[in-house]
Amino acid sequence: METQMNGTLTGKVAFVTGAAGGIGRATAMAFAREGASVVVADVSEKDNQETARMIEEQGGRALAVRCDVTRAEDVQAALDKTIDAFGRLDFAFNNAGIEPRKPAPTADYDLEEWDRIIDIDLRGIFLSMKYEIPVMLKQGGGAIVNTSSGAGVIGIKGSPAYTAAKHGVIGLTRAAALDYAAQNIRVNAVCPGYIDTPMMARFTGGTAEGRARVISEEPIGRMGRPEEIANAVLWLCSDASAFVIGSAMVVDGGQTIQ
Ligand code: NAP
Repeated sequence: METQMNGTLTGKVAFVTGAAGGIGRATAMAFAREGASVVVADVSEKDNQETARMIEEQGGRALAVRCDVTRAEDVQAALDKTIDAFGRLDFAFNNAGIEPRKPAPTADYDLEEWDRIIDIDLRGIFLSMKYEIPVMLKQGGGAIVNTSSGAGVIGIKGSPAYTAAKHGVIGLTRAAALDYAAQNIRVNAVCPGYIDTPMMARFTGGTAEGRARVISEEPIGRMGRPEEIANAVLWLCSDASAFVIGSAMVVDGGQTIQ
């Protein structure tokens, strides 16, 4: 599904993590459709290159970069490549993330699993902003959107690490938003509900019953589409949201207001 806007981002440059599939791929493609050059970054190299190919196929400009967001040197190198290729950085969508593998109550939660989720889903966003913001400061501004979750605004039983990481993303977003609001860098978060992506396929086991269970929690009666998150991210990066700072925009079909 295409966004409602057309060519509004020509001459701009976007950096998207977790771009090899799902929400990241859909958002990278939406940025490109609006005319932005897009750097797609992911650990999953083959699928990430496929995202770049899909962008080029639709007439856009893309660069695929292998980047593990938990490694400072990877993030720094990916942003260096962004500047080398396209000369600037206007938008960053810090979206790479993983879901919990084994639900367990807090006291029984696996330590390694805790560290893995916090490392990617929270520290990865911090590291991304740590290296994006200096580039934006140098050029006089930019817009950043971080991916939180419904789990960033409500507690999820059996999922302490993911809930903490996604709540943390909102706190981090607000702190960074205040740090740079006066310097023309807007930082916001998006909180998706159940979105039909490869992550969701793993979560539901890809079965009709699994999907039905998830959909039963959605007041709207369906999962969201990755393009519906892309629309929100593009709006948060556009001048239409110029007064929106440090928000956690919930896009979830009503899931978290029940
Ligand atoms: P997805 O389909 O699994 O895509 C996430 C991408 O991030 C994958 O390509 C993944 O690669 C990559 N990734 C994982 N670890 C990384 C790392 N250390 N460095 C760089 N890339 C890494 O997931 P999605 O559903 O699009 O989710 C995107 C974001 O939205 C995540 O932050 C997720 O928590 C959040 N979210 C999703 C939903 C939903 O319902 N889908 C709901 C709320 C929030 P691998 O596949 O190789 O791991």
